[in-house]
Amino acid sequence: MTKYVVVGSGIIGLYTTFCLLQHGVDPYQVTVLAEYLPGDESVNYASPYAGGNFSCITDDDPATLAYDKHTYTHLHVLQRELGGPACGLDRYLSTEYWDTKPSRRKLDSLASYLECYEVVTDGPAYGIRFKSWNFNCPFFLLNFQIYLQDKGVRFKRGKLSHIAQAYLADTRCVFNCTGLGAHGLGGVNDTAVYPTRGQVVVVKAPHVTENRMRWGADYATYVIKRPYSNDQLILGGFMHKDNWSGDTFRDQSNDILARTTELFPEILTRNPRGSSIADLEVVRVVAGLRPSRHGGVRIERELVDHNKILVHNYGASGYGYQAGLGMAHEAVRLALMGDSKI
Ligand SMILES: Cc1cc2nc3c(=O)[nH]c(=O)nc-3n(C[C@H](O)[C@H](O)[C@H](O)COP(=O)(O)OP(=O)(O)OC[C@H]3O[C@@H](n4cnc5c(N)ncnc54)[C@H](O)[C@@H]3O)c2cc1C
Repeated sequence: MTKYVVVGSGIIGLYTTFCLLQHGVDPYQVTVLAEYLPGDESVNYASPYAGGNFSCITDDDPATLAYDKHTYTHLHVLQRELGGPACGLDRYLSTEYWDTKPSRRKLDSLASYLECYEVVTDGPAYGIRFKSWNFNCPFFLLNFQIYLQDKGVRFKRGKLSHIAQAYLADTRCVFNCTGLGAHGLGGVNDTAVYPTRGQVVVVKAPHVTENRMRWGADYATYVIKRPYSNDQLILGGFMHKDNWSGDTFRDQSNDILARTTELFPEILTRNPRGSSIADLEVVRVVAGLRPSRHGGVRIERELVDHNKILVHNYGASGYGYQAGLGMAHEAVRLALMGDSKI
């Protein structure tokens, strides 16, 4: 039996599968179907390239703020299920600065649930400090898949040209968690979906133990510690709208290194190898495409052929890890609501 098919094996597809199980669905009735699976790398697979921590990147619309809050306050359940921080999900302090003070609605929401929350005045603009969640994204995805497989969920590789191909004979509900793929997938063809390209420089920095971010009108500079990674530190970044390139560029890496070391001078001053940018040990440089969407995320239920259900869950842009558990909770609620046939 495959009553439920989750199309997409990025963080949104895995969160959605986890939520199905949390709602009591039999894991043996769930198949995850995707072109790219944990362990793969492709510019068409955003999840391994994320920073990825809980930050203040999201907009201040009520729905997104609620998805953030749900995720932040429920990640400990997932962390526990996957065996604790060594699954690649740990907690570090984060300091975030804005050039312009965020809206009262956003600040009130953050202050209502972020742990160790405080306003800081030592920075260039408005700032807060709090205890964040940090993912080792590629490692965490693999552990998440293993956890779900051990429960009985089936993972299958395959590329769909039309969403209708996801329905097997006994499938009642399909979740469309295809990220950027929703743009070209037949039966969906969502032209509101577009990429926001990012490039990051990964360095080895055991001497840095927290996150730091700065948000401007047209830039984002961030330093994210990657847990259980042999001391990797992610330095970013860029928000290139509607740029489909997975290529990396040296001048962009140089710009990232200059901005991040200005924001967080201890990256250099505490480096045992030396205090210039040239002394940093660069592990790799990568570019990824955030699956953005005009109008925000799409979490929506449709009826297909009278008795089959399609639930869309995509468009998480730069916040799939930090808002995705809340998004998944809503998608699964829509799938299961008042439907005795499911
Ligand atoms: C540089 C960078 C930094 C980031 N930092 C952060 C951060 O710090 N915190 C945070 O929360 N988020 C961050 N993000 C954003 C985060 O990575 C995304 O929001 C998230 O990965 C989106 O997940 P997804 O599952 O929707 O998409 P994806 O990971 O792209 O997965 C899509 C899945 O759908 C499958 N698929 C697509 N089309 C088809 C098809 N036709 N047939 C079969 N399968 C298909 C793919 O194979 C894949 O399995 C960052 C992203 C980038 C690029």
